[in-house]
Amino acid sequence: MSPPLLQVNDLKKHFPVKKGLFGRKSEWVYAVDGVSFEIARGETLSLVGESGCGKSTVGRAILRLFDITAGQVILDGQRIDDAHPSTMRQMRRRVQVVFQDPFSSLNPRMRVRDILAEPIRNFGLAKSAIDLETRVTALMDTVRLPREALNRRPHEFSGGQRQRIGIARALAAEPELIVCDEAVSALDVSVKAQIVNLLQDLQREFGLALLFISHDLAIVEHMTHRVAVMYLGKIVEVAPRHEIFAAPRHPYTKALLSAVPLPEPGAQRNPIILKGDVPSPISPPSGCRFHTRCPYVFDRCRSEEPQLRSDGGEQWVACHLDALPQG
Ligand code: SF4
Repeated sequence: MSPPLLQVNDLKKHFPVKKGLFGRKSEWVYAVDGVSFEIARGETLSLVGESGCGKSTVGRAILRLFDITAGQVILDGQRIDDAHPSTMRQMRRRVQVVFQDPFSSLNPRMRVRDILAEPIRNFGLAKSAIDLETRVTALMDTVRLPREALNRRPHEFSGGQRQRIGIARALAAEPELIVCDEAVSALDVSVKAQIVNLLQDLQREFGLALLFISHDLAIVEHMTHRVAVMYLGKIVEVAPRHEIFAAPRHPYTKALLSAVPLPEPGAQRNPIILKGDVPSPISPPSGCRFHTRCPYVFDRCRSEEPQLRSDGGEQWVACHLDALPQG
């Protein structure tokens, strides 16, 4: 078996928050608190969970938009969490990002031609001016935008078209992994489907790996290979798509999936309503972080943190209940 393209080992990111009159006393937000997973070449792993669960922080840590608190991020066998700036430059080319809001991530003063040319120039990918122009026009074909649009600026496009420009800009660097951070969340349903189809086509064409960060499980169900579910800074379940959607095992995953609409008209799932709100990541609950809302909580859950375990298959679950004999 070939080694994974990306390995994330026990990743932690804690943010300090100042409090008190003079901001002297510090508390910590445990945004990501010991997350591990792998992504194979050409694979899509979806990182899902409610807003504030830490999934976007994981994406940003992989992109090294900040220093991490602890753990390792390894790309193709090489650590990038503490890489030297010279190594990091090449690493940055290999991992690109598509953000949720293409309008705020595209410079409104630049023409599309320059937006696409910038990464090609920055990473020294073009051999000549002609090569640069060929690459830029080819990118427009790849994301199915008309070449005539190269001289237009971002505000002249619809939301879906702007997201295509964002994807073209990511592709311009010839990456191996794209972090899609809620990349389709702001789009209308039909446009969402078009962008997801485009991402899948590009994945097949270029062998790209995708880390698809989303709270939209209906979309995830149609496009991912595996799913990792996050709750309050931890992964609580990770499994291939078919297994997790057919038979979720963690109580939180069950509740999340119960809210996903079924494709058949009139068909309904039995929604599981969780009590209470998600606790603060400043003082997460002891033991299992989900114990304050879990319908199956028992004594051990309050004191002992469950670890991800599998029964030999590809479905990994962090729940004491899952460790008990079924029956
Ligand atoms: Fe619920 Fe306990 Fe499992 Fe946590 S460990 S999900 S509280 S049963």
